[in-house]
Amino acid sequence: MKQTKKQIVIRAYTPIAKPLNASIQKNATMLLLGEIPYENGSKVFNTKLYYIKGVRGMLRHACMKLAQACGIEVCHSSEKTELKDGTKLISSGFHPLGACNPPCILRRLFGTFREESSISVLVDPIASIRHKEYTTEVVVQKVHISSENRIALAYDRTPIQDFRESYFSGYFSFCIDVTTLTDDEIKFLMESLLYIEILGGGKNAGYGRVKILDFEVQKIGIVRNIERDNGAYKISEKTEVQPILLENIEEWRTAYMGENLAAVEQEQISALVSDKK
Ligand SMILES: [Zn+2]
Repeated sequence: MKQTKKQIVIRAYTPIAKPLNASIQKNATMLLLGEIPYENGSKVFNTKLYYIKGVRGMLRHACMKLAQACGIEVCHSSEKTELKDGTKLISSGFHPLGACNPPCILRRLFGTFREESSISVLVDPIASIRHKEYTTEVVVQKVHISSENRIALAYDRTPIQDFRESYFSGYFSFCIDVTTLTDDEIKFLMESLLYIEILGGGKNAGYGRVKILDFEVQKIGIVRNIERDNGAYKISEKTEVQPILLENIEEWRTAYMGENLAAVEQEQISALVSDKK
């Protein structure tokens, strides 16, 4: 089996993030996956895996911000335009999800309730592993995971309710499969990374700040074979990674901004001129 893929691999850091937690009674915990063994020297230990929820949402939000900054109208996250009481749901600069013709850049990338998205956002599970050196059979990202006991206070500072929230801290990476995208669409995604700031909840308390450190656009060649291993068959996989180097990142603007481009550039020039005054 031979396959070629294109992907963007992004390396990020968060001092503390509480990614869209799952709640169990009054405790907000991280999404718990399975437990796996890892080896340190000749000893075997177990560790719990957790999933970082909300990375795709974080990326979608960044794309919406970039589109807004460029004056491009894009899909909102909902098909509804207003609530029963008349409250408007769609702010200016957005149209209801899937209402665009031709499809806007956000819809082409993230799809709608009925259309599949053209990208997949992949995040390897995270785990707290105490040992410095370790090996696992599957890919695991080593971070610090813990819980915080919090107390809600009344005005006179008497505690009225306590609750626990899980968080993680450290370096992590995620990957966007961009195999079916055009270069212009990839460039749009690359530029949207500049707008990533917050992951998960607790923004008011200062939680969830994410710093994107660097990223690579890669072409991956994958070859899988079936091999005999005594009485069993094993699947071997070889991957070859080549960097994709794209020039003129902002070039996507000419493809998607149309008449907006001139207007936005004029605005930026006037802003610069008034700054200098
Ligand atoms: Zn749209």
